[in-house]
Amino acid sequence: MIIIDNIHKSFGDTEVLKGVSLEVQPGEVVCLIGPSGSGKSTVLRCVNGLESYDDGEITINGRRVNTDQKDINELRTKVGMVFQRFNLFPHRSVVENVMEGPVYVKHEPRQQARLHAIELLEKVGLGDKIDAYPQSLSGGQQQRVAIARALAMRPDAILFDEPTSALDPELVGDVLKVMRDLAEEGMTMVVVTHEMSFAREVADRVCFLYGGQIVEEGAASTVLSTPQHERTQDFLRRVL
Ligand code: ADP
Ligand code: MG
Repeated sequence: MIIIDNIHKSFGDTEVLKGVSLEVQPGEVVCLIGPSGSGKSTVLRCVNGLESYDDGEITINGRRVNTDQKDINELRTKVGMVFQRFNLFPHRSVVENVMEGPVYVKHEPRQQARLHAIELLEKVGLGDKIDAYPQSLSGGQQQRVAIARALAMRPDAILFDEPTSALDPELVGDVLKVMRDLAEEGMTMVVVTHEMSFAREVADRVCFLYGGQIVEEGAASTVLSTPQHERTQDFLRRVL
């Protein structure tokens, strides 16, 4: 479904992605792990067209991702993204935040978008918060709104960039539970995370990125329990 084929990306003179290849099958959950600065966010940003790449190719359902294309907005309706910071609209209620994309980008009728938004908010455990404003919610609740907002576009896949890194520890579990439920329902997901227990339990595959290259990849249990590469071993020793 997502094919990343040998992509290269430089910022100025610095090459930050040095030939990254990764294929994600429909319904698969892939966790991207690696130290800060290894290029994890850049990979995700290239996949949903927030960043251009210099060489190689990314295709989603057979269509080439190209930031020059006018239909980049259409790509973003197919591939949702959830960030570390939730970026909700502060002056709109929770349900309005979730309806925004379907109404303004996909031109869904408001009433239909609202009903779908409420359904999604119930699914992420926020059925009682539909009329609340973002600032009255905890970080974990806001992140669950952000996940509902991504789901509202009925995407084929969702990319998560450290979705729990900005949260207080006691709020992490609720967000991971929502992600786990999505995975069980068969959502295709690429998740950048430092939550190794989530990776171990939920990911079909784990890729370890170091210095702009995937240096090790395999079944989550294999990579996390018996890493082969010295860099992976060193990284896991620090985070586990
Ligand atoms: P990670 O998410 O693994 O921490 P990033 O993909 O954010 O890594 O960054 C990889 C490298 O690219 C880092 O060295 C970072 O400083 C650099 N980088 C990321 N975005 C930019 C940018 N917009 N301009 C210049 N350098 C950038
Ligand atoms: Mg990052």
